[in-house]
Amino acid sequence: MTLDLSRRSFLKLAGAGVAATSLGAMGFGEAEAAEIAHVRPFKLTSTTETRNTCPYCSVACGIIIYSRGDLRKGEKADIIHIEGDVDHPTNRGTLCAKGAALKDFVRSPTRLQYPMHRKPGSDTFERISWNDAFDRIARLMKDDRDTNFVAENTAGVPVNRWTTTGMLAASATTNETAWATFKFAKSLGMAGFDNQARV
Ligand code: SF4
Repeated sequence: MTLDLSRRSFLKLAGAGVAATSLGAMGFGEAEAAEIAHVRPFKLTSTTETRNTCPYCSVACGIIIYSRGDLRKGEKADIIHIEGDVDHPTNRGTLCAKGAALKDFVRSPTRLQYPMHRKPGSDTFERISWNDAFDRIARLMKDDRDTNFVAENTAGVPVNRWTTTGMLAASATTNETAWATFKFAKSLGMAGFDNQARV
């Protein structure tokens, strides 16, 4: 089959996005192979998908993190793409400008990645282990609660309140985890409780 197409007509045809299969059907036998050859493979096919929650605000949009590198083989995971989770009931795949820029946030060299401690009187922060951080936080909370917990007010009414330590929770979580965190704080009698999203 021979087609009498001028160069201009051909470009117009190609510009209109005619699929390679259609070109093949019109007699351009090599068009299909040429089309396939210049299409890059989908870059996310060999990645690992991890579901998570956007850490920025209390909307808590669902995200999918795409990474390369198999941790089970001792490789370092390298995040190459983050996008909204279309199956998430909150955002249905959409992200605001901050959420859309999450990859830069994750890869930022200034992002805090481990606990830091500034000793009393010091002007510098030092890195400590997670275990040391948890132990220290638990110790300080326990000591303060033992000293300052108020079981009854001056009229003898049970109040069970602890007003000298507060908690600032993060919004990068699900409703269920937020509920459990709130219950944990309130079960200790903690009165001062707020969320990062309101700061
Ligand atoms: S994507 Fe935007 S709206 Fe959604 S949680 Fe992140 S900051 Fe909030």
